[in-house]
Amino acid sequence: MSFDTLGLSDKVLEAVKASGYTEPTPIQAEAIPHVMQRRDVLGIAQTGTGKTASFTLPMLSLLEKGRARARMPRTLILEPTRELAAQVEENLNRYSENQKLNVALLIGGTSFEDQFKKLDRGVDILIATPGRLLDCFERGKILMTGVEVMVIDEADRMLDMGFIPDIERICKMVPFTRQTLFFSATMPPEIEGLANKFLQNPVMVSVAKASSTSDTITQHAVASDYEDYEKRAKLRELIEGSQELKNGIIFCNRKKDVATVFRSLDRHGYSVGALHGDMDQTSRTATLNTFKDNKITLLVASDVAARGLDIPDVSHVFNYDVPVNAEDYVHRIGRTGRAGRTGVAYMIVVPTEQKGFDAIESLIDQKINWLNDEAVEWDAKAGRRGRGKSAKGGKAKPAPKAKDQKPNDAPDSTDTNIKHSEAPKQNNKRGGKKPYHEQVDLEYSDAKHAFGGDEHIPAFLR
Ligand code: AMP
Repeated sequence: MSFDTLGLSDKVLEAVKASGYTEPTPIQAEAIPHVMQRRDVLGIAQTGTGKTASFTLPMLSLLEKGRARARMPRTLILEPTRELAAQVEENLNRYSENQKLNVALLIGGTSFEDQFKKLDRGVDILIATPGRLLDCFERGKILMTGVEVMVIDEADRMLDMGFIPDIERICKMVPFTRQTLFFSATMPPEIEGLANKFLQNPVMVSVAKASSTSDTITQHAVASDYEDYEKRAKLRELIEGSQELKNGIIFCNRKKDVATVFRSLDRHGYSVGALHGDMDQTSRTATLNTFKDNKITLLVASDVAARGLDIPDVSHVFNYDVPVNAEDYVHRIGRTGRAGRTGVAYMIVVPTEQKGFDAIESLIDQKINWLNDEAVEWDAKAGRRGRGKSAKGGKAKPAPKAKDQKPNDAPDSTDTNIKHSEAPKQNNKRGGKKPYHEQVDLEYSDAKHAFGGDEHIPAFLR
């Protein structure tokens, strides 16, 4: 299939060609004609599927007619994080190179003055995070009555981050007659409710079963005992054992673990950076760019900071923890194996994470192979590893012993040689006795929300 048949404008088609895209991805082929026909769209798609272009390309085509007025953006794209917003802006700038359209970014962590100036000049496409947008609105710097198209991107992440009330407020501020494009990787009940409320007779486009993982990713689980130093040694062992590793992202549930793992790897001589929600915008962008430019090989990140990062070719994803929300596993490992490439994902599992591990297997509807063919049962209550058994029914091999594991690796945490000054001060008094969920200091926490799956696709769409 070619882009020419989707109804996009000539200028946009030229830009698509210049981007090197030869054919539309499935979400683009399905969604673009509907957006061009001014239909509301409910897109169920993960990042990495080309979903950004599925809404930006038709928006740019539609915007060719008409002009922007001061403080009245013509279209609005809502993104949950600054990184995602900046990434969408980057894409838009590329796709709109043949057009005279004004694109503006309204995100926290940057000066209000510059953003106000841009709004005053008239904006065709405004990309915003919900908090900053409402802030500007309350200061009387922006009018929402001219919005013709509104995009709510990464809706399930908006939910995780507690943005749903903000989204509801914003939806009520923009004209009822607007066109709404709504994207989410998963469809938990809260998102279904939001879609029912704010979309009018939407077309549903879905590129994969909600919460499925790509076949091109080889997934492994790795057993670890509880102590921090063993987990870090295990991580290094995995990195060392990954012959094909070009670059990798290491996901941690907690901000303090992002800092600890970053310092540990740095001390062990790895080329590494860190990304978490407490870092200011400039440091986040700088770290991300060094990773994108291959100046660092490994990036330790929290889910919030890493959501939807547009890093085309990550060879490995390491889950330092079992994510608390099973959907996060899908998002995390979705950083690799993109656009048909192969990828490898590891997940370190400690005894108390058994429940989370089971939830992931049931969400993705497949068994994750234990490394070294080891199926492990954990005695979660005792916090000890329980009876092991082989996945093939035989006797279990012990978990691979970390070659370089040293009890005195623990002092990592007291190392003051931190390159990222904004890394949070971490507390290493874990002791390994407390249950996992009592310890979590998640950057966002919504362990209670339901897992996405077919049963959560709105009834009217099933
Ligand atoms: P997204 O899912 O929007 O984050 O896009 C993932 C990656 O796919 C980005 O690096 C895009 O530049 C790239 N991409 C988007 N559309 C296409 C296409 N039709 N052909 C090849 N690459 C694409």
